[in-house]
Amino acid sequence: MPFDYAPAPESRAIVDIKASYGLFIGGEFTDATDGTPFKTISPSSEEVLAEVSEAGPSDVDRAVKAARRAYTGVWGRLAPAERGKYLYRIARIVQERARELAVLESLDNGKPIRESRDVDVPTAAAHFFYYAGWADKLDYAGLGPAPRPLGVAGQIIPWNFPLLMLSWKIAPALAAGNTVVLKPAETTPLTALLFAEICQQADLPPGVVNIVTGAGETGRALVEHPDVDKVAFTGSTEVGKAIARAIAGTPKKATLELGGKAANIVFDDAPIDQAVEGIVNGIFFNQGHVCCAGSRLLVQENVYDEVLDSLRRRLGTLRLGDPLDKNTDIGAINSAAQLARIRELSDVGESEGAQRWSPPCELPEHGFWFPPTLFTGAGQSSRIAQEEIFGPVLTVLTFRTPEEAVAKANNTPYGLSAGVWTEKGSRILWMAGRLRAGVVWANTFNRFDPTSPFGGYKESGFGREGGRQGLAAYLTRGGPGA
Ligand code: NAD
Repeated sequence: MPFDYAPAPESRAIVDIKASYGLFIGGEFTDATDGTPFKTISPSSEEVLAEVSEAGPSDVDRAVKAARRAYTGVWGRLAPAERGKYLYRIARIVQERARELAVLESLDNGKPIRESRDVDVPTAAAHFFYYAGWADKLDYAGLGPAPRPLGVAGQIIPWNFPLLMLSWKIAPALAAGNTVVLKPAETTPLTALLFAEICQQADLPPGVVNIVTGAGETGRALVEHPDVDKVAFTGSTEVGKAIARAIAGTPKKATLELGGKAANIVFDDAPIDQAVEGIVNGIFFNQGHVCCAGSRLLVQENVYDEVLDSLRRRLGTLRLGDPLDKNTDIGAINSAAQLARIRELSDVGESEGAQRWSPPCELPEHGFWFPPTLFTGAGQSSRIAQEEIFGPVLTVLTFRTPEEAVAKANNTPYGLSAGVWTEKGSRILWMAGRLRAGVVWANTFNRFDPTSPFGGYKESGFGREGGRQGLAAYLTRGGPGA
């Protein structure tokens, strides 16, 4: 039996959520001129948190113009070390306001406070610290002497890690000397708007960072704006393809960080208890709303029963509920639309003949919830083994030999990440060389560090974020006469 825990709710008093928010353009909050405001809600309670402006094409145009003015003006003239100081300042303020950011993220997104507090916000601050250090060392980025910024970057992010994805986008862009217009996802705009306040607090020159809120149409206006030099997108493969089509034939540069269907591969010599923790972290962290989630478990056949028994026992101890409770392991699904998609694909899994299992789990009455779920007996070509579910749903497959594990792991249109659990170092290297995935974790999963590049193969996109490689996406090669 799992322990009973007394409720340990984090206070939301630290956050001052305004009734309504404008757009952040040229260093100021301003009303939208041509959009219809929309509401952002808490997915765990369906409570309306705030009304947010929708930026129409003329608002996007104002934001891009503000970014251009800053680029050709004050930001472009600033010495690189001075740019770095602004990034350090932002990093420090993110740390100082960490609790506020974490509570706001959990309210708007539905993720457990333990994750927003211990992963999202500290890793976001770490990205600003890391790229602050690069601002005056760009000659060593591997792009020749004196590489140059690209100009104005249009950046579009998803709802699963709102503040963290913002930091992955804004920190390298600014360190390299660009200015940005960023659009957060429509269901999670609040931490980006708090970040706008942080930019004001840091005295960042007006127009260096602009935040426009809205849904797909706002994103499209940003992508298609003729004065945007670079599009950086994280989101679904479907929208990524639409963006690639929209900018084809233009001089715009692009990085696309898209979906995934990662294999988490457990060999019979793996430490099983540790592997089970890694499997749980791989797919149930952030309710499985993770592009690199280990959503396909590949278990070597001779340890299948042992792994599955242990996994089922462990899932029985996960606590689902209030995201602001510090004991919560699994929070709310981000939106009604995402919940409908998870339900639909899970039903398809059953109708295709796979067996579905969840631990006994009481779901709260209000809000959007889905229990941790396992599917066994699924065919390799079934939709739950091929499509990204983006929820707390794990599809379990088996293999006998390392060759078979590699063939099955690579049998997907995606190629973002993979995990390998084995005691043998030589096998880890053998597997890593053959897995078509941008990141391969060994005896761990979902580890992030700003120094390490992250990105995909195949339909998971192109370009890398993080590390020295992440700078290349915001710079053009320098050299004599550049
Ligand atoms: P989505 O593609 O629907 O939306 C992502 C963003 O794009 C949102 O801000 C949305 O408003 C905007 N958008 C929608 N239509 C647009 C258009 N036509 N033009 C421009 N912008 C548009 O994805 P989502 O449901 O928000 O996020 C989930 C997806 O993101 C998953 O597929 C996940 O794997 C992926 N993801 C990838 C990474 C990565 O680094 N590879 C990281 C996180 C999430």
